[in-house]
Amino acid sequence: MRGAIMDALNQAGGAPLIVGGGMAGAALALLLRHHGTPAVTLVESHAIAAGEPPDTPSFDARSTALSAGSLATLAKLGLLEAVLERAASIETVHVSRRERLGITRLHAGEHALPRLGAVVENRWFGHVLLRAVEADPAITLRAPARVTGIRRLADGYTATFEDGDSLDTPLLIAADGARSQTRDWMGITARHEDLGQDALIANLGLAEPHGGVAFERFLDDGPLALLPLPDQRMALVWTGPREQVDAWMALDDDGFLAALRERVGAAAPRLA
Ligand SMILES: Cc1cc2nc3c(=O)[nH]c(=O)nc-3n(C[C@H](O)[C@H](O)[C@H](O)COP(=O)(O)OP(=O)(O)OC[C@H]3O[C@@H](n4cnc5c(N)ncnc54)[C@H](O)[C@@H]3O)c2cc1C
Repeated sequence: MRGAIMDALNQAGGAPLIVGGGMAGAALALLLRHHGTPAVTLVESHAIAAGEPPDTPSFDARSTALSAGSLATLAKLGLLEAVLERAASIETVHVSRRERLGITRLHAGEHALPRLGAVVENRWFGHVLLRAVEADPAITLRAPARVTGIRRLADGYTATFEDGDSLDTPLLIAADGARSQTRDWMGITARHEDLGQDALIANLGLAEPHGGVAFERFLDDGPLALLPLPDQRMALVWTGPREQVDAWMALDDDGFLAALRERVGAAAPRLA
C-alpha cells in the first residue's frame, strides 16, 4: 500500500506541499524524501532560526514518548543517535491500578529490544528533525509563511500565502495541528467530543534515579503516567475531571507533591 502511494505521488510531478512544520509535518517531509520523493515543500507559520532549537507549537518543553517502532523509523532516517543524545530510554513499563493487587511489568530484555521506547523533549526532537530538513537541499522550508487559503485544481491544489504569493501542488498535506484549518478548507470533517477530562502535564525532579522505568497508574479520577526524562527527571501526565485538574493546578508546590505522592504509589521513585 505504502509503495503504491509513493509511486502515485512520485509520478504526479511537482513537489508535495506540507502545511505545518511541526512534529508531523517535519517528520513526514523527511520520510517522503527517504522513500524517493524528489522534492518537498514544507510551510511553517512560525519563524525557525537555522541551527537553533525551535520554539514553535509542536516543539516546546513537553515531551514525547517514542515507541520502539518509531525509534526504528528514526534509525532508518539516520536520526536515532541524535534523538537519543537527549532522550531517556524506557527499559521497563510498570502498569498498576490503585487499590488492586495485580501489577504488570514489561522489560525490554524480554522482547530482545535494547529499549521499549524513549522519551524526548519536544524542543530537542524538533531541533533534530529541523536540522535534517535544513540539511536536505530537496526540501524547501518556507518559514515564517502562513497558508491562508487553498483552491482545488483538476490535478491538485493552489495554496495561497499571507504575503499574497501562491504555489501549485499535486498533493497538499494538512499537518497544521489538531485544529487544522487546511482540513476544513479541504472539506474533511472531524468530530469533537468533550469528555470533561483534562490532562495536567509537568516535568518533575526526582530524589533518586528513575532507572528507565515508565509508570502508568489507573486511578478513579483517570490514568496517570510518569515517564523517564534525562537528568533524573520525569514527565508527568495526570488526567482527571476538569474541576479536579483545576484544583490540582491551584495547589502550591508542597500541596501538589503531597497529592501526587498519595496517588503514584510506593513503586514510583521519590519526587524531589
Ligand atoms: C502533554 C502532551 C504529551 C503528548 N505526548 C505525546 C506522545 O507521547 N506521543 C505523541 O505521539 N503525541 C503526543 N502528544 C500529542 C502531540 O503533541 C501532538 O500529537 C503533536 O504535537 C502534533 O504535531 P502536529 O505536527 O500534528 O501538530 P502541531 O504540533 O500543532 O503543529 C502544527 C504546526 O503547523 C503550523 N501551522 C498551523 N497553521 C498553519 C498555516 N496555516 N500555515 C503554516 N503553518 C501552520 C503551526 O505553527 C505548527 O508549527 C502529546 C501532547 C501533549 C499535550
